[in-house]
Amino acid sequence: RSPSPTPYWKNGQMVGTADAVVSVFDHGLLYGDGCFEGLRFYGRRPFRLDRHLQRLRRSLRALAIDIPYSEDDLAQAVADCIDHSGQDQGYLRILVTRGEGDLGLNPANCRSPSVFILASPLALVSDEARQQGITLITSSIKRMVGSGLDPRVKTLNYLHSILARAEANAAKVDEAILLNQFGQVAECSAENLFIFDGTHLLTPPLQDGALGGITRETVMELAVAEGIPCREQSLTGYDLYNARECFLCGSGARLIPVRAIDGRTLATCPGDVYLRVSGAFQALIAKACG
Ligand code: PMP
Repeated sequence: RSPSPTPYWKNGQMVGTADAVVSVFDHGLLYGDGCFEGLRFYGRRPFRLDRHLQRLRRSLRALAIDIPYSEDDLAQAVADCIDHSGQDQGYLRILVTRGEGDLGLNPANCRSPSVFILASPLALVSDEARQQGITLITSSIKRMVGSGLDPRVKTLNYLHSILARAEANAAKVDEAILLNQFGQVAECSAENLFIFDGTHLLTPPLQDGALGGITRETVMELAVAEGIPCREQSLTGYDLYNARECFLCGSGARLIPVRAIDGRTLATCPGDVYLRVSGAFQALIAKACG
């Protein structure tokens, strides 16, 4: 099939830009009522698609949204979007809203969900940032845990991340760390966080407010395979400032080393552990999608 510049899938069919839209009465727009997945493709193959579809299923279940597509249907739709994008590598967004309702928020008034898949070239991090590392601040915006919305659900409501990122912009740094209401590190605006304390690679447990990142899971698996001791542990600012190294990870950003946190320059950047794990990550992509 010849590549088309309209790699959008909407409710079962490929559509052009003009039709890749929702109604103003869609509850995704009115109330952030929906969830999504973001993943990358390399060599025209989606990376870790199964895990993304499983996480989407869990998010949908948590939000009580039923979609009329199986995981095989979505996998086929993803393949079609990649095909139509004409790109070898890029980023995919799978997006589900509760659909069109009325202005009231009652979910019972939304009759059928809107399901979209989009492919885009998305390059989030410059080569320079990846080589020199990025700078972080701790945001005043908190990730609330144990009450309200479970941070494991990848909902369309990203206002806490957006406000944290606005604080990073105002402070002229690259990214923001969100703590939970107990002052423990949760994650960054769109990435999970790891530190190396000199002996262990550590990342906050999901109960501290982190999304169950698929890149995070992959990094932990690769660290174990590399013989780097790795575990989940609650972290505070003290642990971050005294870390030997720190890096972030997510599907969009992949792995990015951190140079400084709240004005404290870290001991190493990019550190040896980051270099080993990111080398193993590249090798895994080449193996899985090469
Ligand atoms: N935390 C948040 C808040 C995110 O939006 C993302 C990106 N999806 C991540 C962590 C990283 O998750 P993943 O590795 O699955 O992309």
